[in-house]
Amino acid sequence: MSFLSAIAVISLAVMFPVLLSLRKTSVPGIASFCLACALSVLSTGLGLTSAIAPPWIHAVIGSTLMVAAGVMILNGFLEFLGRKPLGSRPLVATLACTVLMLGALSDMFENRDACLIVSAGVAGMIYFLTGVSTLRHWPRKRAVAPYTLFCCISAFAVTALHAIRVIAAATDFGPATEPQLWTTALLAARQLMMPLFFLGVILLLHGWMIANLRHLIAHDELTGALSRRAFLSEYERMFHVASGSGRQTTLMLLDLDRFKQINDLHGHAGGDAALVHFTRTVRTTLAGRGILGRLGGEEFGIAIAGIGRPEAGAIADAICDAVRTTPARGLDGADIALTVSIGVAIAEPGGALADVMVHADMALYEAKAMGRDRSSIADGLQATSSASAARALAGAAAQMRAATAIAVTSGQPLSKAS
Ligand code: GH3
Ligand code: MG
Ligand code: MG
Repeated sequence: MSFLSAIAVISLAVMFPVLLSLRKTSVPGIASFCLACALSVLSTGLGLTSAIAPPWIHAVIGSTLMVAAGVMILNGFLEFLGRKPLGSRPLVATLACTVLMLGALSDMFENRDACLIVSAGVAGMIYFLTGVSTLRHWPRKRAVAPYTLFCCISAFAVTALHAIRVIAAATDFGPATEPQLWTTALLAARQLMMPLFFLGVILLLHGWMIANLRHLIAHDELTGALSRRAFLSEYERMFHVASGSGRQTTLMLLDLDRFKQINDLHGHAGGDAALVHFTRTVRTTLAGRGILGRLGGEEFGIAIAGIGRPEAGAIADAICDAVRTTPARGLDGADIALTVSIGVAIAEPGGALADVMVHADMALYEAKAMGRDRSSIADGLQATSSASAARALAGAAAQMRAATAIAVTSGQPLSKAS
C-alpha cells in the first residue's frame, strides 16, 4: 500500500503548482484550495513514514493535517459557492478539538485505532458538510455543473471512506486483520480518492474561469448587452434555426439620436450613464423576447425569431416610446432626454443574411431622415443578388446616415439620397 500512498503523494504534489498558478485569477476560494492541497501532500506524505517514525508523528501530526486540509477544502467550497467562509476561529477550534480528542481518547497517541476513529470521524464530517453545502448552494453557471457534480460525489465518497475507516477501527475489522480483496480495494480507494478530489477541484476552477472569460468576451462591459461579435453569431444561429422551421427573423438596428450632443451637454460619463439606462429600458420593453447587442458606440441591434411585420413594428414603436418617456439620470442628477431611431428588416426563411443587414441599415437611414425618434420597416427593397452588392449597399447606407448627421448639425438641407 505504500506504493499507492507514494502515487497519491506525487499526484497531489503535481496538482499543487497547478492550483497555485490559478491564484493569479480571481476565482473564489483558490487560496483555501491551495492550502488544502499542500496540507494533503504533507498528511499523505507522513502516512508513508508510519513504518519507521514514532506513531505519534503519524497519529497526531498526520491526522491533524488531514483534518486541517478538510477544513480548508470546506472553506474553499464555501468561498467558491459565494457563502460566508469559516474564518480562522472555526479552523483553530476544529484543530484544537481534534488534538484534544486524540490526546484524551488514544492513550497519549499510542492507540492507533482510537486516533483513527477520532481523525477519520472529524474529517468525514467535514467532507460530508462540503458535499451538503455544494448541494444546497449549487452554482448557477451551467458550464461548471458537471465538475461541481464530480466534486460533490467525491466529497460524499471521501465521507463514506472515512466512515468505513471508523467502523473498521471501532469493530476491529480492519484491512490489517482482513487482507481480502475488498479491503485492499478499500485501501486503494482511500489513497486515490484525494488526488481524484483535487482533480475535480482543478477542473471546477478551470471550468469557472473559462465560463467567466466567455461571458466577458460575449458581453459589452458598459451595458451588459451582447458584444458585436456575439450578437452577430447568435443572430446568424437564430436565423438558420428559424429558417429551418420556416419562420421569419426580425433584425432591428437602433441608433440613439444626436448622442454627440448628449455627451457635449452631460459629459462622457453622463453619456455612459445614458447608454446603460437605454439598454435597461430596451431590455424591459423586450421582456425576454429576442437578443440585444451593442454593435458599437451608440448603435445597438435586436434580433427576434418567429414574429411577423406587425409585431416587429409594434415592438420597435414600443421601444421608441419607452426610451422617449423614461429619461436617463445624469451624474449631476439632471434628466437626460433620449430618443432612438430604429431600422427594422424581416428576414424570410431561406433569404440571404447580408441582405437583411443592408435593409435594416437603410431603414434606419430612413428613420433618421424622416426626423428621428421613430422606427421604419424595410419594405419593397429588392433582395441583392450578391454579397459584394450587399456590402456596397451597406456602405452606401452608412455613408447616407453619416451625411444626414453632418447636414443636421450644420443646418444644411438634406440632399436626396442616391
Ligand atoms: P445621429 O442622430 O445622426 O445618430 O447623431 P449622433 O450624434 O448620435 O451620431 P454620431 O454617430 O455622429 O455620434 C455618435 C456619438 O456617440 C459619438 C461618440 O462620441 C459617442 N459615443 C460612442 N461611444 C460612446 C460611449 O461608449 N460613451 C459615450 N459617452 N459616448 C459614446
Ligand atoms: Mg451612430
Ligand atoms: Mg446616433
